Amino acid sequence: MIQVCKKCVTPSSRPRISFDNNGVCNACLNSINKKNINWAEREKEFNKIIQKISNDRYKNNCKYDCVVPWSGGKDSTSIALKLKKNFNLNPLLVTFSPLIINEVGQYNREILLDEGFDSIFFRPNQKIAKLLARRFFIERGNPKVAWDAGINSIPLKIALSFKIPYIFYAEHGESEYGGLVLNQDSHKIRDYEEVIEHQIGDFPENWIDGEISEHDIEPYLYPKLDDDNFKPTALYFSYFFKWSMADNYDFVKKKLVKFKTSEFGRTCGTFTNFDSLDDKIDDLYYYMQYIKFGFGRCVRDASRLVQNNRISRKDAINYVKKHDGEFPKNNLDQVLNYLSLDKKEFQEIVDKHRNDEIWSKNNKNDWLNSWELKTKIF
Ligand SMILES: [Zn+2]
Repeated sequence: MIQVCKKCVTPSSRPRISFDNNGVCNACLNSINKKNINWAEREKEFNKIIQKISNDRYKNNCKYDCVVPWSGGKDSTSIALKLKKNFNLNPLLVTFSPLIINEVGQYNREILLDEGFDSIFFRPNQKIAKLLARRFFIERGNPKVAWDAGINSIPLKIALSFKIPYIFYAEHGESEYGGLVLNQDSHKIRDYEEVIEHQIGDFPENWIDGEISEHDIEPYLYPKLDDDNFKPTALYFSYFFKWSMADNYDFVKKKLVKFKTSEFGRTCGTFTNFDSLDDKIDDLYYYMQYIKFGFGRCVRDASRLVQNNRISRKDAINYVKKHDGEFPKNNLDQVLNYLSLDKKEFQEIVDKHRNDEIWSKNNKNDWLNSWELKTKIF
């Protein structure tokens, strides 16, 4: 029996979600708790950190104050703009390349650089990136396993090698959207151990085989951090300022009038047009969640916007009925080409990852319509 949160539309099939006695999920409880946070105090705490960064600046050889892991999307761009323009820091923006670069994302990155930022765009060996995306899509139904390791590793490696003392991350996903919080401080200071903990089973060393050598995994390897050596402090912006993806979008849109949204009017599988615009493989990534857990990108977006008081639960339900689980047709040819798969192989892999408990097959001839969810959440 799938339980759905009474406040948002998150189902119990979401990994690591939990519900209180009233049937409210931990992501909603987190957003309710935000009302009790003294945000003025948090801002003061943030200002102290900024003061310390400014005071220490003369001691550092490197003139970058902080790294911002930067996709070019609304969230990381809003952080970059605030740190530079409101707090007078000199951030270095670090991007671990999307698998299949989306022109909209590329364009949005360029317009921010025009505002006066330095950035490092790290594009890993594409022969290996494609091999890993294909392998993990086949094995786990997730083409982004290696990419996930890369976005954790590269900004930290750059901070270490340039000796940049701070890294500003966006939000602590586990406490923000419901999940496993290992350490009470970890929604403020990024716990490097926690990052490794979440990667268990995904150590890039385990990927080495006849096709992938130890040199090939370097971009994905998490650096060794020991207490005696220089270690950057990584902070979550969402601890200090009330986090909302819709507010971030409004802020960026106001500051960068040329900032573009999805070329298709809305993003595949959902009703929004401003999220996950940088990688053409994302439509498939979210679709596979639908295949595995019975809910997709629309449930995720609608729940977040309910939590931010941007839409009602009723609207959320309507959006989910209309868009959730939409087949990722927009960039499919390019995605299949990237993964070196033909349509038939692709369909077989998707079917292999279907959860039997939630899917049933009817007699229809066309592949897509021959599968039905046994029980829809709405
Ligand atoms: Zn909820």
